[in-house]
Amino acid sequence: MSFETELAKASKSPVELRDIDANYHKYSVKDLPATIPGIKWQLLLSGLKLNSDSVVITQPDFFKALAVQLKTTSLETWKNYLKFHVLDATAIFLNKDIAYAHYQFNDKTLNGQQVPLERWDQVSRVIDGLMGDPLGYVYVHKYFPPAAKARMDTLVQNVEAAFEERIKNLQWMGDTTKQKAIAKLHAIIAKIAYPDQWKKYEGVNIDPAKYYTNALACKAYLYQEMINYLHAGKVDRKRWGMSPPTVNAEYDASLNTIEFPAGILQYPFFAVDADDAVNYGGIGLVIGHELTHGFDDQGRRFDGQGNRSDWWTAADEKRFNVKADQIVKLYDGYKVLDSLHVNGSLTQGENIADFGGLAISFDAFKKTAEYKAGKKINGFTPEQRYFLSFAQCRRRKMTDDYLKTFIKTDPHAPSWYRINGPYSNFDEFYKAYGLKPGQKMYRPDADRISIW
Ligand SMILES: [Zn+2]
Repeated sequence: MSFETELAKASKSPVELRDIDANYHKYSVKDLPATIPGIKWQLLLSGLKLNSDSVVITQPDFFKALAVQLKTTSLETWKNYLKFHVLDATAIFLNKDIAYAHYQFNDKTLNGQQVPLERWDQVSRVIDGLMGDPLGYVYVHKYFPPAAKARMDTLVQNVEAAFEERIKNLQWMGDTTKQKAIAKLHAIIAKIAYPDQWKKYEGVNIDPAKYYTNALACKAYLYQEMINYLHAGKVDRKRWGMSPPTVNAEYDASLNTIEFPAGILQYPFFAVDADDAVNYGGIGLVIGHELTHGFDDQGRRFDGQGNRSDWWTAADEKRFNVKADQIVKLYDGYKVLDSLHVNGSLTQGENIADFGGLAISFDAFKKTAEYKAGKKINGFTPEQRYFLSFAQCRRRKMTDDYLKTFIKTDPHAPSWYRINGPYSNFDEFYKAYGLKPGQKMYRPDADRISIW
């Protein structure tokens, strides 16, 4: 514990890790022994199967501290530390006692999970993690029809068009930056449902009697596949970051791509036969959210091809930061448990994306026939159904222990603030539900924040 604490002290905090430039340090491999002495770099790199004349080290100070620990920490402690990590990383593939010890510490003590996952649930997560493509191939052929892909394509196009229009109409952004922002927006590649190229797992032999060996074979395959990609030396913007069954979405700043695996393209986020209010209020909002990540505190430092570049004018950057600070303050003020608050700085990128996604997708929804007809379904107007849809997507419960860890480590605010924060700052929400002063979510006009 004390050894790990020393290593942790030399590591950056999650907020510090958001600073792109402070975490980019490129070194030539031959200079490394002089720049950060005390580590056998050649041995380390060949052990990692890395063949490169330069490397990027995100945290040089960590490696400097590591070099000190290599000298001062006893061999016995090092052995225990490494043994622990081999067991911790593989515990879920080993016998019941070790797997249970892993659950007790990681899931129960740290996160307040009261019972272990059922075996089917645990194992299907493992298969998704280690054989995501083969599993995804079967999954999408069974559950993701071409009609769903077509509807999703239209949603992405419409939400992107709505964002372009909003950028053009922004009061705070100058024309030069606007033109560049729109060019970057058009350069974004949308990856929907599943990859064009599937990983084939050549050479991986699966033996139904050997869970641990199978897991290691998959890990070795995935590692080698990553190294091959690196050594090929060519950026592949179509490369996927998640497995097709994953229930998540992402923006990748260094590729300038958005990705929506088939796993998130199901209820409550999306349904091929749902009305537009449900889809724009669900996945439409997520599409808008991901698009704005290209322009948040991190994404705006990259160009349309994903290269690090400063393309904002200083004046626009200043005006953006004023607005971003308002959002930081708003979330700093949100309380969880007795004395814990949301970390506004850590969550700012995600909160800005939630604010933007809500406004952008709503504009796209306004162009639909359903919105224009204004007909109620189950007693709710189209716009009320839009807001209900996203609130349903974010329904979640967290134990207090989990929440404590979540607040310190996760770049997202707890899910209820991801609804009440953006909604209480969005005029259309006031109109849809007739909010009045004195009601809990009411904020005076002048206090309402909007960025995108
Ligand atoms: Zn996000």
